Amino acid sequence: MSAVLEIRNLHVSVEGKEILKGVNLVVKQGEIHALMGPNGTGKSTLSNTLMGHPHYVVTSGQVIMDGVDLLELGVDERSRMGLFLAFQYPVAIPGVTVANFLRTAINARLRAVDPKSKGMPIPAFRKLLKERMDTLQMSHDFAGRYLNEGFSGGEKKRAEILQLATLEPTIAIMDETDSGLDIDALRIVADGINKLVGPKLGVLIITHYQRMLNYIKPDKVHIMMGGRIVESGGPDLALQLEAQGYEWVRERYAEAAA
Ligand code: ADP
Ligand code: MG
Repeated sequence: MSAVLEIRNLHVSVEGKEILKGVNLVVKQGEIHALMGPNGTGKSTLSNTLMGHPHYVVTSGQVIMDGVDLLELGVDERSRMGLFLAFQYPVAIPGVTVANFLRTAINARLRAVDPKSKGMPIPAFRKLLKERMDTLQMSHDFAGRYLNEGFSGGEKKRAEILQLATLEPTIAIMDETDSGLDIDALRIVADGINKLVGPKLGVLIITHYQRMLNYIKPDKVHIMMGGRIVESGGPDLALQLEAQGYEWVRERYAEAAA
C-alpha cells in the first residue's frame, strides 16, 4: 500500500492569531508537489504543524497519514510513520556527529518496530552511510563532523538531504531547502532530491522561488495566499509565477490575503 498524506480543512493559530485558514492538500508516495507563495503566507506554519511543533495550535481540520490521525501522534511517532521534515533553519547539535545522529535516528525507528532490537550493526550502518554519501557526492569526512556546527548554508542543506537518504521516509517536506544556496549548491541539493524521488518517496517542496523547480520537476504546483491554497495546477503554474510574480494571485485573492 502506498503512503498518503492528507490535509483536510486545516486551521492553525500561532499565539492566538489564525495563520492557516483551511488548507486542503493530498500528497501521495511517488508524487512531487511544490507549495509556493509569498513570505508570511503560512508555508512554514504548515510544515511546522505537520511535524508537531508545540507552538502551532490546530483549531480545526485533520491530517491523516495512512489512515492514522497524525495530529494525535508525537513528533517521534510521526517520523516513524514515515514523515520527514527538512527544516528551513536546521539547528546545530554540538558534540553529536552527523553519523551518530543518523544512527540514533535509525535505531530509534528500529526499536519502535521491535522494542528488543539492538539497532543496526555498526558495519551495516557504515556501509549504508557510505553508499548514500556516494550517491549524493559527499565527502566521507562529512559523517564525522558535528551536526550543523559551522556548516555553510549548502552543507546544512546537504546534511538534510543525507538524513532524507538514510532515513528513507515515505513523505518528505522540504521547507525552503533552496534558500541561501548559491547556484552550485542548489544544483547539488536538487540532484540529491532527484536521486531519491521515485515510487517510494513523495515530496512536498515548499519554496518562495521558482528556481529550484528548474531542477526538480513537480507533478503539481500549489499557491498559498493568506493561509489557504488558492491555486493548484501543473508545472506551468510555477513558470507563470516566475514570469508574472505573485501580483496576479494577490489581486485575484485580495480578500483571502486580507
Ligand atoms: P511563510 O513560511 O509562508 O513565509 P510563516 O508560516 O513563517 O510564512 O508565517 C506566517 C505568519 O505566521 C507570519 O505572519 C508570521 O509572523 C506568523 N508566525 C509564524 N510562526 C510564528 C511564531 N513561531 N511565532 C509568531 N508568529 C509566527
Ligand atoms: Mg517559511
